[in-house]
Amino acid sequence: MTPLKLVARQHLDQATVVTLNEELKVGDREIIVMAGPCAVESKEQLLAAAYAVKEGGARVLRGGAFKPRTSPYAFQGLMEEGLKLLAETRRETGLPVVTEVMDTRDLELVAEYADILQIGSRNMQNFALLKEAGRIGKPILLKRGLAATIEEWLLAAEYIMSQGNDQIILCERGIRTFETATRNTLDLSAVAVVKEVSHLPVIVDPSHATGRWQLVAAMAKGAIAAGADGLLIEVHPNPAEALCDGPQSLTPANFHKLMQDLQKIAQAIGREIAI
Ligand code: PEP
Ligand code: MN
Repeated sequence: MTPLKLVARQHLDQATVVTLNEELKVGDREIIVMAGPCAVESKEQLLAAAYAVKEGGARVLRGGAFKPRTSPYAFQGLMEEGLKLLAETRRETGLPVVTEVMDTRDLELVAEYADILQIGSRNMQNFALLKEAGRIGKPILLKRGLAATIEEWLLAAEYIMSQGNDQIILCERGIRTFETATRNTLDLSAVAVVKEVSHLPVIVDPSHATGRWQLVAAMAKGAIAAGADGLLIEVHPNPAEALCDGPQSLTPANFHKLMQDLQKIAQAIGREIAI
């Protein structure tokens, strides 16, 4: 992969560890699970989700305040109000938060509240956003575009890194294929390819990759076995009532069970999940 410079292994022959604080590092021996609802819906919903995922062993709370929805009539997120709820929930639970930024105009605002800024699949080649993300002093979670090659994805990370920000976590979330049984097709080989060609940490989102909560556990386990540094999992206190992505959201009970199973897999490959 010749066009890769800064993100390539040749540039840095050791794994990049994205450091949130002394106890929270992505890309180190510990597997980091980020979990929470697709979208921030209310104070009660977010707090319930946060306590549930914290109890299960998640280290980061996810929740979208700005939602990229296929339909303009679907719930678009609570925006700044959602960011405030995320900050409030972090204060109450101690969990750092990852949330999506969709537009350069919102970047500073989102960065005020978030611990990790997520650049979603649909924005993976929003080059203006990538460049601005490279100038902000916060870790970036860069999702793979829904129809992006691994090289295009890594070049998107190159945009961020070329502006001075090396705190990048890649996230494989499934790609578009001819298959219709799942929402997307999880490309687990991407984890192995990224590990081979890049020094950046990579996590897997089995929720968007499958679109169905029944398939999330199997793909989460496969991701850890394949060498992913973490997971991004949608968990909702009441998936049937979720305003966004309910069918792929785990209940707190299913999430807790999954975390226990994941610990066994992590141990089998010489890593750990603190639960
Ligand atoms: C999300 O994580 O909420 C999301 C919208 O994911 P993606 O960008 O992978 O579709
Ligand atoms: Mn979602």
